[in-house]
Amino acid sequence: MSETHVDPMWVQVSYLVAAVLFILALKSMSSPRTARTGVLIGAIGAALATGVLFFSGIKLANLALIVGFLVVGSVLGLVAARRVKMTAMPQLVALFNGVGGGAAALIAVVEYLVVDSDDLLFLIFTVATVIVGSIAFSGSIVTYLKLQELMTTRPVVIPLGKWITILVAVATVVGGVWLIVQPQEWLLWALLGLSLVFGVLFVLPVGGADVPIVISLLNAMTGLAVAASGYVLGNVLLLIAGTLVGASGTLLTNLMAKAMGRPLTSTLFGAFSGTTAGGAGSGSDRPVRSGSANDVAIMLGFAGKVILVPGYGLAVAQAQSTLRELADLLSEKGIEVDYAIHPVAGRMPGHMNVLLAEANVPYEQLKEMDEINPEFSATDVVLVVGANDVVNPAARTDQTAPIYGMPILDVDAAQQIVFLKRSMRPGFAGIENEILFDPKTTLLFGDAKDSLTKVVAALKNV
Ligand code: NDP
Repeated sequence: MSETHVDPMWVQVSYLVAAVLFILALKSMSSPRTARTGVLIGAIGAALATGVLFFSGIKLANLALIVGFLVVGSVLGLVAARRVKMTAMPQLVALFNGVGGGAAALIAVVEYLVVDSDDLLFLIFTVATVIVGSIAFSGSIVTYLKLQELMTTRPVVIPLGKWITILVAVATVVGGVWLIVQPQEWLLWALLGLSLVFGVLFVLPVGGADVPIVISLLNAMTGLAVAASGYVLGNVLLLIAGTLVGASGTLLTNLMAKAMGRPLTSTLFGAFSGTTAGGAGSGSDRPVRSGSANDVAIMLGFAGKVILVPGYGLAVAQAQSTLRELADLLSEKGIEVDYAIHPVAGRMPGHMNVLLAEANVPYEQLKEMDEINPEFSATDVVLVVGANDVVNPAARTDQTAPIYGMPILDVDAAQQIVFLKRSMRPGFAGIENEILFDPKTTLLFGDAKDSLTKVVAALKNV
């Protein structure tokens, strides 16, 4: 892009409008009621920002290529987003995020090669974009592989990993400073390679349950890379949009780390010091009490207060509407019903809210962890539908558990607990749940949708 180009006023105003749309989009996304509209507003902002470029007077070389790739990218994005299962959304976010970081890094590389400037600020921002964008790219690819279970979800600690990571980090910083002081092309490529390697080393030791936090962190980094590339390209809108992503990603990272009950440093570097050691796994053949759909219907039908705890299995079984049917039936019988929502239930932030919103569950019935926890002791029956880690008391007691320190839903305080699950397999963190063996627990084995359908049918006769 030409250094001397100044955008006409109408282009600058359009960029301002797009920036305002991005801010409004973020604001709307902060409530489940308005989130859909927020996504739409953001998309309009992005379309405006992209479209304006074609009419801004900038001479675009390779116009056919640009349009061709825009079409290919849009079609791929649209098909991927429409086809993805709700449960695989974090992987998709990781991929999209990685592509964003990689694109920012490539733009900075091209700009460095084409512009050939020795302006200090230009060089600093170019180096920052290459480093941060490349880390976000390779790190996101590893998070994708972990969440898609194309590689182990457990922390991967390579021999001398801590020292190799530190070495690569130091080499990256030194290479970056060197490039700023003495610009030369080979160093740029070396920096790109080092940053890509660092991204991989950075994410490998993170255990599966912590991967979402890392995705959020990488997302924030992509935002910063895009903001820095905005400086490199002299594009204010990229600067604003990147800063928004960087800031919101940082806030989300902090919130998630808090929800998981561990400082961010322990999430990122815990495996090096052994504080995210894997759990014990299952396979115990201790006796449990299993029941039939009829037994569960009787328990529920005679309760005064019931709390429903949805988890990842509800999403897998796509049983949200059947759960709502059950809740409605209980309410009709005069039984008090609430949904307890853990912040990291499922596989993405807000997963349960989205899932239950799909089944038109009134938002007022969803109670967050802090609000619902004091109520469990006064509850007759807790129905845990496809949740495990978020109710596992090992988070309170077992210092070796990967979820140790994570605040949980205190379902063990209730009078009776019913688990709907298919087997004795553990949840995402791979550790056994003692509540399954508690004498006040009943297990109804089977796919959550089948089980709920049977319970609803049986409850109609209670
Ligand atoms: P878990 O993964 O702990 O447990 C899911 C449970 O659902 C399992 O017990 C499984 O048992 C059961 N299940 C699976 N499929 C079905 C089905 N079709 N019918 C009935 N039951 C089923 O889920 P939680 O929601 O309790 O916890 C979320 C975990 O995921 C936490 O460890 C969290 O840290 C992690 N995580 C969270 C993310 C987020 O942002 N929300 C993102 C990524 C990870 P069985 O196989 O026997 O049926």
